Parts: sequence; C-alpha cells; structure tokens
Amino acid sequence: MEFRKRRIIDAHVHYPHYSCGVTLMPMLAEAGVNQLAVVSTPDEKRLSLLPDALHLKGLYPHKIFVFGNLDISPLFMAPEIAGQTFANYVDDLMEMGVDGVKMIEGKPAIRKRLPIPDFDDPLFAPYWEKMADTQTPLIFHVNDPEEFWDPEKIPAWAREMGWHYGDGTFVDNEDQYRQVLNVLDRHPILNVTFAHFFFLSAQLERLGEYLDRYPNMRVDLTPGIEMYSNFSKDPEKVRDFFIKYQDRIIYGTDIGARALMTDCMPSIQVEESLARIEVVRAFLEVDGPFTLTHEGFLFGGSKAVFQGIHLPDAVLDKIYFKNFWKFVGGRPKLLNFDAIVDECQRLELMINAIARLEPELGGDTSSVTMAKAFFTG
Ligand SMILES: [Zn+2]
Repeated sequence: MEFRKRRIIDAHVHYPHYSCGVTLMPMLAEAGVNQLAVVSTPDEKRLSLLPDALHLKGLYPHKIFVFGNLDISPLFMAPEIAGQTFANYVDDLMEMGVDGVKMIEGKPAIRKRLPIPDFDDPLFAPYWEKMADTQTPLIFHVNDPEEFWDPEKIPAWAREMGWHYGDGTFVDNEDQYRQVLNVLDRHPILNVTFAHFFFLSAQLERLGEYLDRYPNMRVDLTPGIEMYSNFSKDPEKVRDFFIKYQDRIIYGTDIGARALMTDCMPSIQVEESLARIEVVRAFLEVDGPFTLTHEGFLFGGSKAVFQGIHLPDAVLDKIYFKNFWKFVGGRPKLLNFDAIVDECQRLELMINAIARLEPELGGDTSSVTMAKAFFTG
C-alpha cells in the first residue's frame, strides 16, 4: 500500500543486536519514518540491550531516542533495596543521555522469569517517586491480550510461544492492572505510555476512564494484532474514541520484536516490519475495509480484512509525532560518552561475574565491547 508522505516518529522499535542497524535504518528511511525510539530490554546472555541501543543513537544522534531498560541485577543481588537501586539507575540513564525508561517487566512471561515484586509493593516506592518527580518518560508493557489467559481463545501461534497464561503459574492480568493503577493513584502525574493500547482495545470505556483520571497517561498503537481485529468490529465507535483521545495516542510498530524472540543471531525481517507499518497506518488513514499487502507472522495473511478509520490530518499529526513530542520532547538528548563507557564497564564486570556463577547462561560481552570501542573512539 502507498501512503502519503508525513512526518512520523515510531515510538516503539526493538533493536536486538548492534548488527541490525544496516537493515533497520535504510528500511525505515524508505518507509518515510523520520525518527524512532528504540526501547531496550534486559537480556539473558548480554544482561542488557542498552549498549546496542546507545550505539545506534551514537550513529544517528538526531534520529534516535533511547528508552533504557532497568538494570535487573538488584532483583537477584539486593532485592530489599531494589526500588532505591532502580531510582538511582534512572539518574544514571539520564546522565548517559537516555531519553526515557522502558519496562517490559509487566509482560507475564518475563515477570515469571524474574523475581519482580508487585508494582505497588513498598519496595518499588522510591522508583515510582523518582519517575513521577522527574517526569521521566516511561513506556510500560503491562499484561498481554486477555485471550492469552483463556485456553479456549488463545491463538495457536501464541500458545507455541509459551504465552498461554491460564495455568496458574503466571501473573493474573486483572491483578496486574490493580497494581499498576494503585501506582497511578499515588502518582497521577506519572509520565507513562502503556504499550499496545494497555491491552484494552476491546474495553474502550474502561480505557477512557483511565485516560480521564490520569492526565499524563498515554497509550501506543503497537500491534498486538488483536487490537486491529478488535478495532475493526465497530470502526465508528473506535473512530469517536480516537477523536476524543487524539492527544493521548502515540504511533508505534514493535519492529524488531520478532527478532528479539529468536535464539540464534537476531536479524530484522523487512517484510514483517513493513506489515507492521502497513496495518497501523492503513487503520488510521484508510476509509473502510483493507487487507495487507505485506506478510507478517501475526497478521493473518492477505485474507484478514481490517477496517480503517480515516482520521483527519490534524489528528494524524498528533498521533504520528506531536503527542510523542509532548511525552518526551522534540529532540533526542545529547549522549554523554564518558558515562556510557562507565556503564559498559560495569555491565562487562556483571556479565563476567554471572557467567562464572551460572556458566550455562554463557555470558556474552560482545555488545559492551563494541559500544565501549565506539564511545572511547
Ligand atoms: Zn515491544
């Protein structure tokens, strides 16, 4: 599908390895994306994908915003002071020139693997206080599509990924909403964007209530393909919602998320990425039914029919970039090379220490070595 040229910031891109830039950047340029936010996540072998994200920002300082993941090591080493350590780490991230924080910790499969206390536990309090006081932008992944908890309704591909959460060993989605809303009640000004429409695309009244209650809360449009099937059921009602909350919705695609899940050498798949752009843009811009011309692994192929809501240009501009500017600011922060090198050194020590303690994880320091070389350069 051909789209009109517009200013676009993709607020949600994963960058699983420093070698992916050669595919990612030309593809996004070709697709007309002006700037992007790389959201980084913890990693088992490399501990953190932050060095990769910073390296990309080093190469394209005016194009890339970085949302740094939290350092999860306190959860294992000093859980009783983890919240304070997270709060201090926010300062470290800002010092490096990171633009915001990304939390993947509310994804049930991740939460199961890490000893994460409830988000409204007093242990987390210093961290939330810091985030609210400093108005640090946060992109927060909380829950997953609600059908993943239901053995009757979960799609086959999700079950294959190990995302069936109904066996009692995963966090309950309503319990997690409760925890996060408690945090927002304590800090109603938290500068937060919930990824994937907060997984409430089938419950718009409920999402509207939260948006009314918390003035700094936003949601992103990152698929979650269930969102676009849900949106297609009642396009008129959905269009009204988008008009009403036009200041609170941010464009994003999750490009790179697929590569993040592979065990072998990650690479960004162009066709799958273009399908992500296509489904979101066509939904916002097309008037009436559409099918995808690109093939994506969770998009149901060319047979799936979606409904576009054809928003006015002024609303599209807000969703494509103005709301992101309000959330984060107009330009990426300057990088502090010395602070980044310090952090790389710290990560290197930690990776080697974990590799000695748990050799089966096979610690991998390649990313920090690369980033260190670039920023010492
Ligand atoms: Zn994501």
